[in-house]
Amino acid sequence: MLRSPILAAARNRRLERLVTHAPVSRSVVRRFVGGADTAAAVEVARALVADGLTVSLDHLGEDTSDRARAADAVTAYVDVLQALDDAGLTARLAPLTARAEVSVKLSAVGQALGDDGEKIALDNARTICARAREVGATVTLDMEDHTTTDSTLTVLGELRRDFPDTGAVLQAYLKRTEGDCRDLAHPGSRVRLCKGAYDEPASVAFDRSLDVDRSYVRCANVLLDGGGYPMFATHDPRLIEIVDDRARVKGHGDVEFQLLYGIRPDEQRRLAAAGNTVRVYVPYGSQWYGYLMRRLAERPANLAFFARALVSK
Ligand code: FAD
Repeated sequence: MLRSPILAAARNRRLERLVTHAPVSRSVVRRFVGGADTAAAVEVARALVADGLTVSLDHLGEDTSDRARAADAVTAYVDVLQALDDAGLTARLAPLTARAEVSVKLSAVGQALGDDGEKIALDNARTICARAREVGATVTLDMEDHTTTDSTLTVLGELRRDFPDTGAVLQAYLKRTEGDCRDLAHPGSRVRLCKGAYDEPASVAFDRSLDVDRSYVRCANVLLDGGGYPMFATHDPRLIEIVDDRARVKGHGDVEFQLLYGIRPDEQRRLAAAGNTVRVYVPYGSQWYGYLMRRLAERPANLAFFARALVSK
């Protein structure tokens, strides 16, 4: 019931200004965000890698409305890739399982900039992919709301001509996704499967969580049956168990689980100790508002925690 209003609030610029400047205790941000700048994010990545985990760093920011900010986002990614390399966290020889990679939202690098947006985002993403290749890291394109799916998949296709290891994200809550999984389940194709985090209309998305979960399992089967490299992003214990089981039955030695920084850290370590590749998605930077609101929408139980933090210093 609370999901839609919280997700609407996630895109409200006025509220963003209010909340971002409110005396939010550092703990609420620190719990889900891996630091305010590159240096802090790389330290978090270093600690996670030391624990046997891999990471994907996400420079926070989305729905960029001018070219200069899109260019700043590209610079931030180029800088963090360099810093990851300097810290010895990239893997030049094993790109599919590089210990560190970056996740990029196309809307942060210009996708929403009018008619030229897709081209601007493609050019910017190309710059990031080129730098990632130089340092031995990979790039995954996050998926945003359904109005951007076609454009994001088009950009992905273009990028993969030159950078075939560019990762895709597909969202099980969209009715189209099983078909997209079939299209993308081929050798060399890295695909992250998640449930989906945006407020979508019933015309395009499954409404009931049971239907989303069923879709997730169908999509997982398609990805596991294809010859690609599936990456299962979920904290849902039932789905993790099902995917783990299916992967074994299908003789898949190599699947990757992905979880968000700060969510179920014990499970992250348990899965890694059991021999899985586990990638922790670490958002960092000052523009944490939209990201944090989506996490609240998933788990309104966190609202009390957030509200307490808003009134404490
Ligand atoms: P949920 O339905 O949220 O939770 C299922 C169960 O998981 C809960 O009942 C509970 O048992 C457990 N659980 C969940 N949260 C917690 C918690 N905080 N503490 C303890 N138990 C918990 N979405 C996009 O739309 N685009 C993307 O590009 C994208 N990338 C992602 C990358 C990663 C690595 C991850 C993990 C998620 C990503 N998401 C993305 C978000 C995703 O779509 C979901 O919104 C989010 O993961 C919540 O769904 P869930 O599968 O974890 O299950």
